[in-house]
Amino acid sequence: MTEATSQLKDWRFSIDGEGIAWAIFDREGESANSLGRRPIEELGAIIERVEAEARAKTVKGLVIMSGKERGFIVGADIREFEHFKTEADVVASIKPVNEMLDRLEKLPIPTVAAVHGVCVGGGLELILACHYRIATKDDSTRVGFPEVKLGIFPGFNGTARSIRQVGPMAAMQNMLTGGMIRAGAAKALGFFDQLVGSPGELRWAARKAVLQNRRSKPAGTLKTLLTKWPARELLAKKMRQETAKKAREDHYPAPFRLIDLFEREGGDLDAMKKAETAAFAPLMVSDTARNLRRVFRLTEVLKGQAPKGIAWKPRRVHVIGAGTMGADIAGVCVASGMEVTLQDISAEQLEKGIKAQGKLFSRKFKTKATRDAAKARLIADPTGKGIARADVIIEAIVERLDIKQKLFADLETKIKPGAVLATNTSSLKLEDISAPLQDPGRLIGLHFFSPVPMMPLVEVVRGAKTREEEVKKGASFVTAIDKFPLITKDVPGFLVNKVLTPYMFAAMERLEKGEDKEKIDEAVRAFGMPMGPIELADSVGLDVCAHVAKILGQSSESSRLERLVQSGRLGKKTGEGFYVWKDGKPVRSDQKFSKTELERLGREIVEPMIKEAQKSLDEGVVESADLVDAGMIFGTGFAPFRGGPLHYKASVGGASDAAEKRAAAE
Ligand code: NAD
Repeated sequence: MTEATSQLKDWRFSIDGEGIAWAIFDREGESANSLGRRPIEELGAIIERVEAEARAKTVKGLVIMSGKERGFIVGADIREFEHFKTEADVVASIKPVNEMLDRLEKLPIPTVAAVHGVCVGGGLELILACHYRIATKDDSTRVGFPEVKLGIFPGFNGTARSIRQVGPMAAMQNMLTGGMIRAGAAKALGFFDQLVGSPGELRWAARKAVLQNRRSKPAGTLKTLLTKWPARELLAKKMRQETAKKAREDHYPAPFRLIDLFEREGGDLDAMKKAETAAFAPLMVSDTARNLRRVFRLTEVLKGQAPKGIAWKPRRVHVIGAGTMGADIAGVCVASGMEVTLQDISAEQLEKGIKAQGKLFSRKFKTKATRDAAKARLIADPTGKGIARADVIIEAIVERLDIKQKLFADLETKIKPGAVLATNTSSLKLEDISAPLQDPGRLIGLHFFSPVPMMPLVEVVRGAKTREEEVKKGASFVTAIDKFPLITKDVPGFLVNKVLTPYMFAAMERLEKGEDKEKIDEAVRAFGMPMGPIELADSVGLDVCAHVAKILGQSSESSRLERLVQSGRLGKKTGEGFYVWKDGKPVRSDQKFSKTELERLGREIVEPMIKEAQKSLDEGVVESADLVDAGMIFGTGFAPFRGGPLHYKASVGGASDAAEKRAAAE
């Protein structure tokens, strides 16, 4: 046993002079700690050793900490999930982990988890099996159960242990939404028992907790009452209603199965622990979970487009144009810690654009000091004083070639060497914009999506003349503002709008031919999109749609779209378009449609998008099929549980081809 703990690779184990055992998790060769097979086996060996030492009365307590500078445990090792082929595989792999956590919990000596940084998923389940939990107040310290985002729920008995610890309301709420909770809030809820000011204080606090045999108090009687029948039944009903507002059960079953589990077994936590594995296993091997893991991997593929270890670090940004896009781009850069000068020819627009960022800063920064610091980093700059100092200059002014050309020709004479020069154009060719430049190789596109703070993707556009180095710097900048870069060719619509447009216009054509708009939108939502194409057109603005139609060669003349634009009914922003809009929502009737018909229609309506996605790959708009899928998922919300348009195409195979043939025959 001693031998086993002396040969650890992912943990360091020691017993100090006071008889406190220290288990420090520092996964070999990885920047973050994840609970893979080997670290779990090694933790098992540590617990075995501590059990023996406790019996021999040679240890007084056990402290579990992280050896990484940043982060405690990011969860189970998702890469290993792919090994599970059957439910039986899942059950076989989980059983020993849960037995080990039970043994940890039953140790006769105090066990303390000392947390700094992110502690989520399996990490949170692990510390819930300890007797006492201490954390740093640091902003990076967070707890959470992100499992639902991967199509599962906690599987290391975290469902029962979290309910026992913080009560069913807080526990279920966190497991159902997958959000992250800061240290202060986590302590208030009961996930942590004690907070310390800095990582340096953790060891001392943990030592004291062991020596004083501190024990966490589980949720009080009032909270526990909610686990009793009929309160539990009522709570489950309410949770089902709330969850159904956010996710469809047929697409995302995990939260619904978790509610079932709570409803059935939540009154007896031992029974819940047992039932958890049986309910968890089918989810883990489902297509939804596989595809959601694929989405997670795609985020890595996107981030991988930015070069690693590049010396260039963007700190100062200058944004020109404080309209819809520019002001929010400036706000997002400030929220990522950068200093931003924002320029506009309209003083009124500049003031409005800066003021509008208050909301984002309040969401992002929780203390007055950090909010004030953010406000101070966003500087109104009507004359462009910041241009010469900026590392990145982003243009987001009116979509007119002559005006943009003039602006860039002037900018080129003012910017410092090495600065990135970018346009947010959505429809002009980079080659045309950069034509008057001395060095056209400098210009890149940074195509943001609206609303900028919500949309995770930014297309980094490589013009025919753009130098590779500038593209790489652009991608690096995008990751520095916590967004995903997608490097695309300079073709009309880049990737996302190119793929989206034929689908949008085909849907409008259906409308023209008499198909019901509500039916079209509902069919597409039933397919898994966040919004139907007709509602989307109204949201984007019908004038913008008509403009895009022209650029991408989709004729919209004499169409209903054109007539609406002519009559000033531009969609959501004017209160009427295809729909009438009230309080920011389209007014719908309460018609019901048949499920099978919606399913058929949904598949047909998205078909042009699938086709264009394939065409874009064939034309090399982006470098791989994964990047096409990633772009459409993060740029448009393409049904994540289907894994992206090309992955979907491959998974339905013949069915998709048949639909294509049908469409061609029509
Ligand atoms: P907008 O009309 O809301 O804002 C443009 C701003 O630029 C205005 O405040 C205007 O006063 C200012 N401006 C005009 N000429 C200027 C100049 N010479 N110097 C300084 N400021 C000047 O426009 P927007 O929707 O924010 O679009 C800006 C750019 O972003 C366009 O190129 C557009 O194609 C692109 N874009 C827009 C969206 C979108 O959804 N709105 C999405 C992606 C890209």
